[in-house]
Formats: sequence, structure tokens, C-alpha cells
Amino acid sequence: MQALTSRAKQVDRKPMTFIESIYLWNIIKGMIITFKHIWKRKETVKYPEQKREFSPVFRGLHILNRDAEGRENCTACGLCAVACPAEAITMEAAERKAGEEHLYREEKYAARYEINMLRCIFCGFCEEACPKDAIYLTETFAPANYKREGFIYGKQDLLIPTPAEKKKA
Ligand code: SF4
Ligand code: SF4
Repeated sequence: MQALTSRAKQVDRKPMTFIESIYLWNIIKGMIITFKHIWKRKETVKYPEQKREFSPVFRGLHILNRDAEGRENCTACGLCAVACPAEAITMEAAERKAGEEHLYREEKYAARYEINMLRCIFCGFCEEACPKDAIYLTETFAPANYKREGFIYGKQDLLIPTPAEKKKA
């Protein structure tokens, strides 16, 4: 029969000899390959005892930033949510009340801010879109969790501590 491509190989249907049937040569070939790799540099990282250095362009878990006075930078403008290709960000805006100036930098703030880490592809578009330097991707990743709800990160998970909280820690 005419072969369809030049890559076609004729299959050898000869019965195996005794030596071939005990696969001795194939086992030796396999062992040679194994021994060749024993002395090579090992690529395996024994996590968590050993930790790999991240690449300088690594994009990991998000943080919501505060200003130098500890006020939340985010104004709930929604630009990060619009830029997110995975539709992983949801938020609810609220108006700052009198006496809350020490909590929120601008008149509007995010009363609820959530990122679904199961949807997130860590592209960093939210960070690029933010006009207030409010959201950053860090050099750490979302830890494993048994429940899907554990991957919905709310404001309490994302906001960095206030300067006062940092001092206490
Ligand atoms: S890193 Fe990308 S996918 Fe993840 S929340 Fe930001 S914009 Fe969305
Ligand atoms: S994180 Fe930045 S882009 Fe997103 S809502 Fe807050 S201020 Fe706007």
C-alpha cells in the first residue's frame, strides 16, 4: 500500500528471538540512561524545606496598598475589574463619611473588594490599570485550600497592615 507520508515506518513482524524476549538489552539500555542522569545536577526542589528564587518578573498574590498614613488607597473606581480578562475582581463602592478621613484617602472607597484566585491568571493587568497605586502583585502565591470559598480573597486578606499594626507585629 502507498504510504501517505514519508514518516511512515515499516513494522517488523518477525517473531522475537530468545534474547529479545527476555528484554535484557532493553533493560541494560534503560539502566545506562538512568546512571547517566545520577551525576547530573538535580532540578528537583524539595519544597517546603527548600524554596526556589522567584524570577524578577514573577506575579503572585495581590495586596491592596495603603498610603504613608495608613489610609486605604483604593477608591473603588472599578478600572482593575474592567481590565481583568478573567473577571476575577468584584467590588462595592461606598462613600466616606465625616470622621473616616483617617481610614480612606479619597471620598469613595471599596466597602467590599474580592478577588477570585481560582479565576485569576496573574496577568497583572489590574496593577497596570490602577490609577491610585492601590493594587500590587507580590512574590508569593495563594496557598492550597480544600474549599473553593477559600480562594475568594476579601479586603481583610488583601489589605496590607496599617503602620500601627506593623509596629505591633
Ligand atoms: S492579575 Fe489579571 S486575572 Fe488576576 S485579578 Fe488581576 S487582572 Fe484579573
Ligand atoms: S484597586 Fe485601583 S483600579 Fe481597582 S478599584 Fe481600587 S483604585 Fe480602582
